[in-house]
Amino acid sequence: MKYFVDKNGYYGEFGGAFIPEMLHDNIIELQCKYKKLITSYTYQKLYRELLTNYVGRPTPLFFCKKYSNQYNAKIYLKREDLNHTGSHKINNAIGQTLLAKELGKRKIVAETGAGQHGVATATICALMHLECIIFMGETDMKRQYSNVIRMKSLGAEVVPVLSGDKTLKDAVNESIRYWINHPESYYLIGSTVGPHPYPQMVADIQSIISEEIKMQLEKIEGSSSPNYVVACIGGGSNAAGSFYHFLDDDSVKLIAVEASGLGIKTKKTASAIQCGSKGVLHGSMTLILQDQDGQILPAYSISPGLDYPGIGPMFAHLFVKKRVNFLHSTDEEALQAGYELTRSEGIIPALESAHALAALKKIPLHKKDIVIVTLSGRGDKDINVYDKFFFNFSNNESNT
Ligand SMILES: *Cc1c(COP(=O)(O)O)cnc(C)c1O
Repeated sequence: MKYFVDKNGYYGEFGGAFIPEMLHDNIIELQCKYKKLITSYTYQKLYRELLTNYVGRPTPLFFCKKYSNQYNAKIYLKREDLNHTGSHKINNAIGQTLLAKELGKRKIVAETGAGQHGVATATICALMHLECIIFMGETDMKRQYSNVIRMKSLGAEVVPVLSGDKTLKDAVNESIRYWINHPESYYLIGSTVGPHPYPQMVADIQSIISEEIKMQLEKIEGSSSPNYVVACIGGGSNAAGSFYHFLDDDSVKLIAVEASGLGIKTKKTASAIQCGSKGVLHGSMTLILQDQDGQILPAYSISPGLDYPGIGPMFAHLFVKKRVNFLHSTDEEALQAGYELTRSEGIIPALESAHALAALKKIPLHKKDIVIVTLSGRGDKDINVYDKFFFNFSNNESNT
């Protein structure tokens, strides 16, 4: 527990709640109540039931034979891609929606970048008959149009965000602005970011991932501790969930993989650990991409779920404390790794998850090493990008 948030809402020098006065009551209410509510018997019963019968948990821990031979280690994939709606985001959306209901809120507000979090939130709001408003940058709406249609079909109101560069960070700003004007709504953040208690709360809710890994590994290998756990990292929610129950076990090496875009030496990157510095973003002190005047720099990655110009405060702390080793993969490396998994195991991974897979080449593995890679999502949403790089089917078709 030594890497968790302290009673003041900090992870070492990171975290806190830098919020406007108007949100003070809402944040204090969450801070005071969330832990008790999400650990209560009634909440846990509902949460677990939905995870089992609606999401399809536990997700499998799949042993990759060919990959294991290739890397000369035992490689397992934690299959979050098999969750309903196609990624780990639904765990968090369900957890927080149940909490919102406990708090008596009937309206859910959320931001989305690629649309994965928006779709997960709209899905659970449809199931629970809650009003749902999703803020999405106009640029992202164009790039991820099918997710916009999914959200609208599910009954959500999708509000285009026209400020800034019209992507995720602007959508977060607009959601916060909306929440300030509508404090009766619940703001459902999609990652381990934002003011305290969001980062810890999202980590707590996503910890189901490592809870399952431990049980599954114990059954298969006779030990619940692997040598490595590897996960991609944008804000940090799938990594937090995957690492959670291993944080205090120093025998388990934890590896988080950022998206370095075109490379950390270029300006087109999303690596807040390699290229960022200390500053406040979306309500917490953390590591962020910023210029000399403290203006947020746009993040770039081919994978829409990783192009966030910051990293959750918990991970800024884990980096400083050297508990988590941070690697990075470029667009090109991720695409290759995604293609490789598709051909070697018959699984098309989300481009985000492909960044984690690409890092396997950079870890000095030994024959008996047990390695868990979290496959955070499925690649259906990225199929056009894969096509553009490897096949160009769509172009050929339009030519004929
Ligand atoms: C959103 C997303 C991510 C990145 O978010 P984290 O909070 O860092 O996990 C990674 N993979 C997929 C499939 C996503 O949808």
